[in-house]
Amino acid sequence: MEELARGFFPELFNRSGNKGSGGSSYSPIVLPLDGRREEPARRKAADSDKRVGNEPLSKIRADFPILSEMVDGKPLVWFDNAATTQKPKQVIDRLTTYYERENSNVHRGAHALAARSTDAYEASRAKAADFIGAADPDEIVFVRGTTEGINLVAQSYVKPMLKPSDEIILTYLEHHANIVPWQMIAQETGALIRVAPVDDAGQIILPEFHKLLSSRTKFASLAHVSNALGTITPVEELISAVHSFGAAVLIDGAQSAAHMPINVSAMDADFFVFSGHKLYGPTGIGVVYGKQALLEAAKPYQGGGNMISDVTFGRTLYHNPPAKFEAGTGNIADAAGMGAAIDYVKRIGMQNIEAYEHELLEYGTRELSKIPGLRLIGTASRKASVMSFVIEGHSIEEIGSRLSEAGIAVRAGHHCAQPILRRFGLEGTVRPSIAFYNTFEEIDSMLRILRQLV
Ligand code: PMP
Repeated sequence: MEELARGFFPELFNRSGNKGSGGSSYSPIVLPLDGRREEPARRKAADSDKRVGNEPLSKIRADFPILSEMVDGKPLVWFDNAATTQKPKQVIDRLTTYYERENSNVHRGAHALAARSTDAYEASRAKAADFIGAADPDEIVFVRGTTEGINLVAQSYVKPMLKPSDEIILTYLEHHANIVPWQMIAQETGALIRVAPVDDAGQIILPEFHKLLSSRTKFASLAHVSNALGTITPVEELISAVHSFGAAVLIDGAQSAAHMPINVSAMDADFFVFSGHKLYGPTGIGVVYGKQALLEAAKPYQGGGNMISDVTFGRTLYHNPPAKFEAGTGNIADAAGMGAAIDYVKRIGMQNIEAYEHELLEYGTRELSKIPGLRLIGTASRKASVMSFVIEGHSIEEIGSRLSEAGIAVRAGHHCAQPILRRFGLEGTVRPSIAFYNTFEEIDSMLRILRQLV
């Protein structure tokens, strides 16, 4: 147990702490795992009057209609937040308002509804820029999500500069969406992929990361938070190391944007991508942040309407970024919906969300680790949201379906991150992942089922 505590909360043993990622304007929250915190019974009684920041948890939960769903007669417990998050009615209502009052294509028609939809679309771009600390809304390109965003950067910015034997740096923590697009362009250009290893807690081994960097390094694409283990990576240190070799860095923020304050300027990311649907917004919308000079240098990888300033049969002049990368009709409604999601989490406060989720994570991790035969996969000193585990003698499918029968939704599988699970000798884990609308009681109901199982 102390082993686990030492791995997961080393600050308890060594108070020197480590520097946070995601901006220098806040300190990482590290809560002591010291047994002196509230006991479950006392804490549970207080669940109903818990607050996230100033907002009562009960009020937050009432904003998410799906959280009142019953599944086979049992209340839904949504612990699959790393896959996608549920939507507050503010987001759902925003979509309805868009279609009832604003629907039009943007930028083109000179009529009232075109102005409304353009305002909605561009307001969301500005909200996204502000949310992640970008210098200018023009540094925000709308895409379908993280996957499309990484593909865009790979095809538009990185591929055109690659030569045989150039190197792209990844880590063992990456989601398939941050592996396959790089393999595709490596195969086409003769470039090579180099992968930074992790230790047994699931943390990048920094000296090994540094050793991979050289004059051959042309780009690095790195997870901010691992979707399979929950590890928060030290992005500021990684980015500055890659920059010292003159290469640019993309940060995959799919699992960080909903769980902590993000400041791309402070971390000095060249590109940062995230998905609206993991941030309480709609599916089909996401963001690529790119530094202006890099977006200007990148080639568009899709051509069509909206992205041009002039077309003849002989040649095309492109718009400046971000329009240059937004060929065709964009996902206007869902961009507006994502803007409403950003408003929602900002009102609660990302630091408040981070602090509350950390309490849940700390509690869940401590209690899970007491279950006989349960092995936590991913015990990094800084983690967000994810509690991956396996239980000796029980398949992940069995555990997943026992939880599902109790109304508890978790993911059991490879989480689109096979290399990192294989690093731990596994083909899959059970992965509860929490959000700020989850409660201690919900964690207790998961623990009850697991205790019955073993
Ligand atoms: N990267 C990470 C770390 C992820 O967790 C995910 C989604 N599971 C993705 C990329 C891909 O995101 P999307 O499916 O929204 O494109």
